Amino acid sequence: MADRIFLSSPHMSDEGYEMEYVKEAFDTNWIAPLGENVNGFERELSEKVGSKAAAALSSGTAAIHLALRAAGVSDNDQVFCPTLTFSATANPIIYQNAKPVFIDSDYETWNMCPKALEKAFQLYPEVKAVIVVHLYGLSADMDKIVELCKKYNVVLIEDAAESLGTYYNGKHTGTFGDYGVFSFNGNKIITSSGGGMLVSNNEDKIAKARFWATQSRDQARHYQHSELGFNYRMSNVIAGIGRGQLKVLNQRVEKKRCIFEFYKRELSELEGVEFMPSNDWDAPNYWLSSMTLTGKIRPIDIMEALEKENIESRPVWKPMHMQPFFEKYDFVGTCISEKLFENGVCLPSDTKMTTEDLERVVKIIKGLWLK
Ligand SMILES: *Cc1c(COP(=O)(O)O)cnc(C)c1O
Repeated sequence: MADRIFLSSPHMSDEGYEMEYVKEAFDTNWIAPLGENVNGFERELSEKVGSKAAAALSSGTAAIHLALRAAGVSDNDQVFCPTLTFSATANPIIYQNAKPVFIDSDYETWNMCPKALEKAFQLYPEVKAVIVVHLYGLSADMDKIVELCKKYNVVLIEDAAESLGTYYNGKHTGTFGDYGVFSFNGNKIITSSGGGMLVSNNEDKIAKARFWATQSRDQARHYQHSELGFNYRMSNVIAGIGRGQLKVLNQRVEKKRCIFEFYKRELSELEGVEFMPSNDWDAPNYWLSSMTLTGKIRPIDIMEALEKENIESRPVWKPMHMQPFFEKYDFVGTCISEKLFENGVCLPSDTKMTTEDLERVVKIIKGLWLK
């Protein structure tokens, strides 16, 4: 059987940048705590995305959690959250004892629908914060979402875990809101093996997030704590991998774009196939190439045919308002997210794929229409 083709797997640089930084950490015994790789990674990521400050954390989920704390979200507060996302966007709302209100997608972006968001503001005027997600590296309609958050004077958190390298009208996603969140989990466009980053132009809030992330230790020789703390900091070894990966981010985006264009060229003529949306304000990172199917061939047919050939693919995220754990919370929308889930499929988008791999995938998929 041919080697497995993955949806999106870790891809270290050919140049070995990651090992150089990791080696430096070993050579200087800055394994932990913190160290120059952590500082360097924060500085370099801030520069890359155009944010004043960043805190390197143990995961993207931890970054969302601390963003919610920084936004003052606590017991019984409502937080607007897209329903079409990975559960890691919503879980930290529960950690804070707050209540998510799930917001539907629109077909134009697959992301938070500004109309549904406006309706939610009218229904829940007390809302404390909004989390917006840039799914699969496609940016949400930020002009409208930012305007609404300003109008209702509510904190905006951007979950940009999937959109490192995505620009909206020339500005990096994750820098429109009060807080932005990135992830370096194993399947993301670049990975540190695991980790996350919280960014903001508010340097005091980032300093506070670092404080919370290191067990909220007050300035004192003895261990003193005036606030609840967390163990959320990134290690210096991990940060070294992240720094090396950041150097190849542009290459990874370029490759992901080629993968998407290849699929689009080869598959978009097939009956019932429609690719994820393109908007002229959006320069996506094309993290996962995704499409919807509304003809006789269903997503499951594609996933099964590919799996038989040892090729990984996935449905689009199952909406949060349909999840057993989250279904008791409120939902605002017209169920476009349910349609995207029903009809959507994410194609293998691994940056290590060769042209032959891509041709294999396309041949298997096209074959389904010939039967
Ligand atoms: C991966 C991901 C996260 C969580 O990031 P981790 O680093 O794995 O904690 C959050 N939100 C979205 C949309 C993601 O895809």
